[in-house]
Amino acid sequence: MTIRPPPSIHNFAAEVDFALRAMEGAAELLDELRRSSQIQSLTKEDRTPVTAADFAVQAAVTGLLERSLPGEVLIAEEDAGRLQGEEARRWVDEIVASVRRVHPAGTEEQVLRWLERGGQQPERRFWALDPVDGTKGLLRGGQFAAALALIQDGVPIIGALACPRYDRFGEEGCLALAVRGEGAWAAPAGGGGWTRLLVSSTADPLHGRLLRSVESGPATNRKLEEIRRELGMTASEIRMDSQVKYLALAASDGELIIRLPRSGGQHENTWDHAAGVLLVEQAGGLASDLNGERLDFGAGRQMVRNLGVVAGNQRMHEAALAALRRLGLGTPAKDLAGVRRKARGK
Ligand code: AMP
Ligand code: MG
Repeated sequence: MTIRPPPSIHNFAAEVDFALRAMEGAAELLDELRRSSQIQSLTKEDRTPVTAADFAVQAAVTGLLERSLPGEVLIAEEDAGRLQGEEARRWVDEIVASVRRVHPAGTEEQVLRWLERGGQQPERRFWALDPVDGTKGLLRGGQFAAALALIQDGVPIIGALACPRYDRFGEEGCLALAVRGEGAWAAPAGGGGWTRLLVSSTADPLHGRLLRSVESGPATNRKLEEIRRELGMTASEIRMDSQVKYLALAASDGELIIRLPRSGGQHENTWDHAAGVLLVEQAGGLASDLNGERLDFGAGRQMVRNLGVVAGNQRMHEAALAALRRLGLGTPAKDLAGVRRKARGK
């Protein structure tokens, strides 16, 4: 099946076509995992897990890019270097077999070369791919997504997600698409029409539902509780892995996302937010960092010019930024100096 773009999209036809085919291919590779809980994983240096599916989706999408839009730059999460050595042999066989569902004539050499392309540094225009965002969610039976964005001059132009376990639009999960200036949509992954996405109109923070990660430490839990109290949010919060949180926000299944910076001062990965943020913005919402600064997706593989993310419908975004200011939970001045230095390229 080849899904057609929503009829009202007029710009970036070739890029939209590629993004949809890429997420359709990803959904096909991830389909079996939708139902399973017995999935093998390895633990990476950053202590997050990776599965053969992460590599297979990354290679399959890169192969499609090479064929559809040759010469484009792509940054992607997984490092092909991990697949060297005897131990990885079984994984390579599994990955190549999986990629062949999308590229029937794909060779091992080609698959490994496609994987290496993801290690590039971003340029003025590039694609950012997270082949499996929320791998922990995948492993625990929760939400996960493949996420792809086209970024130009620091701004996401196209954002696309494949969300195999998000069943709001159909039992087999859904695809979501946003194009700058043209809107955001979701469609059942098993086929069916597009639904235009609009953020919720809930204006009173009292009824606002906070969408937040499943993974978080005690310091983050404490701060988020403080923010909810400051905003007077009494509705239950929603814990969810991956950028499916942004889709939920865009589809009015929640009102606010707050991502606090990790305590080690590590910045957010570009591929973890670009597609999701565009979905929210094109559904009528707003996103910024914790200080209300514009999110700059052109800073590198990591978003070194921003700290944290706040996204919401317009009212909740504004209220959350005000609450963060009152609580002094924006960026501490000493960290802000570092962020500004990085922004100036020093
Ligand atoms: P989530 O499912 O929202 O917890 O996000 C998962 C993705 O975000 C993974 O790619 C993680 O490596 C990354 N991640 C999780 N927590 C943080 C954090 N506090 N700061 C930066 N990246 C994070
Ligand atoms: Mg991720």
